[in-house]
Amino acid sequence: MTIFADMAEHWSIYADWNPWHGCTKISPGCKYCYVYRQDEMYGSEIGSNLARKTAAFNLPVKRKRDRSWKIEPGKMVFTCFTSDFLLKDADEWRRECWQMMRVRSDLWFYFFTKRIDRFMECIPDDWADGYDNVLVGCTVENQQMADYRLPIFKALPIKHKSIIVSPLISAVNISEYLDSSIEEVSVGGESGVDARPCDYEWVLDLRRQCVEKDVPFRFHQTGAKFIKNGKQYYVRRPFQLSQAHKANIDYKIDQFFVPEKVKFEWKESDYRQEELFDGLLTNKLY
Ligand code: SF4
Repeated sequence: MTIFADMAEHWSIYADWNPWHGCTKISPGCKYCYVYRQDEMYGSEIGSNLARKTAAFNLPVKRKRDRSWKIEPGKMVFTCFTSDFLLKDADEWRRECWQMMRVRSDLWFYFFTKRIDRFMECIPDDWADGYDNVLVGCTVENQQMADYRLPIFKALPIKHKSIIVSPLISAVNISEYLDSSIEEVSVGGESGVDARPCDYEWVLDLRRQCVEKDVPFRFHQTGAKFIKNGKQYYVRRPFQLSQAHKANIDYKIDQFFVPEKVKFEWKESDYRQEELFDGLLTNKLY
C-alpha cells in the first residue's frame, strides 16, 4: 500500500492520514508487506501485526493556530496506508474515522483494502450508496484473489471504485470485472530485497484489458525485480516510480477522479540509473 504514499511525496494536492499502524497478513500479496519491512528497518519493538492508533488519529479535524484546517480543503487524503482500513482489530476506531470524513466533506479520502469482504460490516449507518468524498481501491495480486474479491467489490455501494493490481506477482485477467463503474486500474510490482519479479508482459496485458473496456489504466511502479524481454532488471527503490512513468503506457489517466489534473514534476535524475525503457517508448517529461 505504498503507491500513493510515494505519490504523496511528490504531489502537493495529496495528504496522508494514518489513523492506525500495524496489520495482519491475509493473502499472498502480504508476504513481503512493506509495513513489516519498515518496522524491522526502524527496529520497532512492537510487532507489526499489532494495530495501534497513531498520534495522527484526529488529523483531518485538527486546526492550526489561526483556526484553519491542518489539511487544507481540496486535498486527496491517502488513508491508512500502513495498515488496512477494514482491519478487524480497528473496528472500534473506524466509526470516528467515518465521522471525520463526513465533517471534512471538502476533502477526498482514499483507502485501499485487501479486506473488501468486510466492507458491509464496516460501514456507518448513514452510508446508503456511499459518501461522495470516499474512494475505495480493491487490491488484488493474482488471479485467485481477483476472482474472490472483485465480484464482491463490484456489488458494493461505493461511489468511487478503483482496482489496485499490486504487487503484481503473476499474470491476471480482470477483464470480466471491468466496466464504467471502475474509475481506474493501477498496476505495480513488488518492492523490497525479497520482491517477487514482475513481468512487463503481465503489465501490458492488463493495459490491453483496460483499453478494451475503456477503463483508465495506470502503471505506477515497476517493483524491484522487473522482467522485460525475458531479462530481469533490479530497479532501485528511487527509480521504481520513474521507470514505470517512463514506460509511458498510462491510458486515459487524466480522466481519473482526482479533482484537478496534477502535474508530476519528474526530475531528469529520477531516470538516470536504469535504461529499461530507453528506445522503447517516448521519454517525454511533462
Ligand atoms: S493487508 Fe496490506 S498492510 Fe496489511 S499485511 Fe497485507 S500488505 Fe500489509
